[in-house]
Amino acid sequence: MSLFGLINKDIAFENESREGIVTLRILYIIQAIVLIADIFFAGISNIKGSAYVIIGAFVIGAVLFFLTYKMKTRPATLAYMVFMIVFIAGMIPCFGWNGGLQDFFLIVLMLIFFSNLGSNLFKFTLAGIIFLARSVVIIVYGSMSSLAYIDEISNKHIHVANNAAVFLSVIAISYIFSHRENEAESKLMKYNDKLVKEANTDQLTGLHNRRRALEMLDEIKNSSYLGAVTVVMGDIDFFKKVNDTYGHDVGDEVLKSIADTMREVCGAQAFLTRWGGEEFLLIFIGKNGDDALTDIESLRIHIMEKPIEVDGNKISVTMTFGLAEYDFSGDVEATIKEADDKLYMGKESGRNRVVY
Ligand code: GH3
Ligand code: MG
Ligand code: MG
Repeated sequence: MSLFGLINKDIAFENESREGIVTLRILYIIQAIVLIADIFFAGISNIKGSAYVIIGAFVIGAVLFFLTYKMKTRPATLAYMVFMIVFIAGMIPCFGWNGGLQDFFLIVLMLIFFSNLGSNLFKFTLAGIIFLARSVVIIVYGSMSSLAYIDEISNKHIHVANNAAVFLSVIAISYIFSHRENEAESKLMKYNDKLVKEANTDQLTGLHNRRRALEMLDEIKNSSYLGAVTVVMGDIDFFKKVNDTYGHDVGDEVLKSIADTMREVCGAQAFLTRWGGEEFLLIFIGKNGDDALTDIESLRIHIMEKPIEVDGNKISVTMTFGLAEYDFSGDVEATIKEADDKLYMGKESGRNRVVY
């Protein structure tokens, strides 16, 4: 198994987010590497007296590393915290105060606040414990030179190695947890977009729904736009007969097919809405009544001339339309009503026509 696999795989509790456990494994590995580097820079012969402490740190670190495959994030993080306090307290006498080991407390501090350990009170309490531990270490070891003899140059090497470990650990924690935040945020945004789209869309036909159309008309009313706007109300003729003859499901297919035809013929020109039932509202922005009339005539002829095939049945339908220009009086409802009245006139005078 690769190092990446070792770090990233086998989270014991799959319902937990993986970041916490993955971060701990990275931190243990960094800790092991820096300990080897420290030993190397100090010189093996110089740490004779500390050998048991260092071997102990390796063994306990390794056990805790493998426990991350069995434990939940919270106890594993707390175990890491305790380990680090003991580790720092145990290693300073081995490598000396000037090795910078005490900076490892900062890693633990970061982890406490990034990891999902529990309530704020709990986090601040843990932070207090880390503060106390570091204070005790300063008081007890503040002026201690190493047990082993380590010369000044080696000491600097050790300090640089420990510093690198602190940096890498801080980067790992920051990267992993900020990445998670960003991911969660973008997921949420996508979900939000989806909800907005669903709230604005008619499920059966995929056209805009009435809610969205009213919103659109409101936007037009409140904007400073002064170009032409034409509103068209359309209704399928004798649609009840289609349902009665072929059934409601076939009726639905006819509605979908008509929506497709609308998209094909005037999707680029008009804002297409299923107003409700078998009624459609089309809003032409930037077209006056005469221009919109041409498009709607073309749509009417397309619908009339293309029978809709459902389950081997060829169903011919027609539509009647009422067309009204918006006069920018601010009363869009009046324009809709005018289009609706004209639609009614079209029905009265024989259907399958556009009234303007
Ligand atoms: P007219 O030419 O006067 O408009 O006649 P019509 O039969 O189309 O009008 P009516 O208002 O009498 O009937 C409309 C029918 O549309 C009745 C209703 O069952 C049907 N309808 C409304 N919404 C749906 C739908 O979502 N699916 C199906 N299949 N039918 C629908
Ligand atoms: Mg009808
Ligand atoms: Mg109707």
